[in-house]
Amino acid sequence: MIIVLKPNATPPEVDHVIDRIKELGLKAHVSQGEHRTIIGVIGDETKLSKEPLLAIAGVEQVLPIMKPFKLASREFNKKDSVVVVGGRVKVGGGHLGMIAGPCAIEGREILNEIAGEVKKAGANLLRGGAFKPRTSPYTFQGMGEEGLKILREVGDAHDMPVVTEVMDPRQVPLVEKWADMLQIGARNMQNFDLLKEVGQTRKAILLKRGMSATVKDLLMSAEYILSEGNQSVVLCERGVRSFEDSTRNMLDMSAVPNVKGMSHLPIIVDPSHATGRRDLIPPMALASVAAGADGVHIEVHSCPEKALSDGPQALLPPNYGKLMEQIRKVAEVMGKTF
Ligand code: PEP
Ligand code: MN
Repeated sequence: MIIVLKPNATPPEVDHVIDRIKELGLKAHVSQGEHRTIIGVIGDETKLSKEPLLAIAGVEQVLPIMKPFKLASREFNKKDSVVVVGGRVKVGGGHLGMIAGPCAIEGREILNEIAGEVKKAGANLLRGGAFKPRTSPYTFQGMGEEGLKILREVGDAHDMPVVTEVMDPRQVPLVEKWADMLQIGARNMQNFDLLKEVGQTRKAILLKRGMSATVKDLLMSAEYILSEGNQSVVLCERGVRSFEDSTRNMLDMSAVPNVKGMSHLPIIVDPSHATGRRDLIPPMALASVAAGADGVHIEVHSCPEKALSDGPQALLPPNYGKLMEQIRKVAEVMGKTF
């Protein structure tokens, strides 16, 4: 950590900062410049936090050298992490997680029909929401536990591990019982109690980027899960809010290589929620794989006009099948398989 003092900091103020550093068992390396003093702190930086130092008179800036996320950092693990879902589907390290299914579980028959179609096209993970984070409390909220049971049953019938959202720490035991991968939705990316709770499980976690979260915020949220002992975290870029209003969100494609430089964790892209538009999903899905993503998360519905949520962005099964053929080609160029 580097502490930059104000140009007018007095010698007693400088000494006070040095005393605080020493009190914590750390060493202070003082560099007296012509205009200002800079103090380098040597030792275990975790003993020191930024805010109390900034409160000391004479201190202008505190610059941590170590990244705030450690377990998620590339420095911590030079190799790409591979997350195994449901004991068999790998995501990361050359393996693509192809997640597909309806936005919400609406019934056994319709889910079974969609699962058959996406499986045939090459999807390896089945998604479907049983607890839906809806903007309005008056719209369909999801089938709850009944939906979870249907998802499990249909996933097993098609030999696909299942992914579903958990919105509240109190739902974790129930969702954990039925699902292979627990999704933390964009609206809950910084629900720290929820992150800690899923960190206690040994299920794979799909952590979606919040709509106004930076890449660093996303990695800090992953750190919450990792620090509880759960190392199976897959990140998901799903677009952020912007001034653009012709798409649902603004897909930040650079987040993929950006995160890969900073972290060993796999990152997939969700072009469905990022664009909110069926016509934009295929090009953005292909671009995701070309950008180095470890998978793609796509909403598919065989009858979008009857979908209880997110119908306008759902791909029809034949279009999903066609897209998957194209994705295979891009994946091959990128040296990846699914
Ligand atoms: C979803 O996956 O259905 C969903 C609600 O996604 P997000 O949290 O990214 O909006
Ligand atoms: Mn949805």
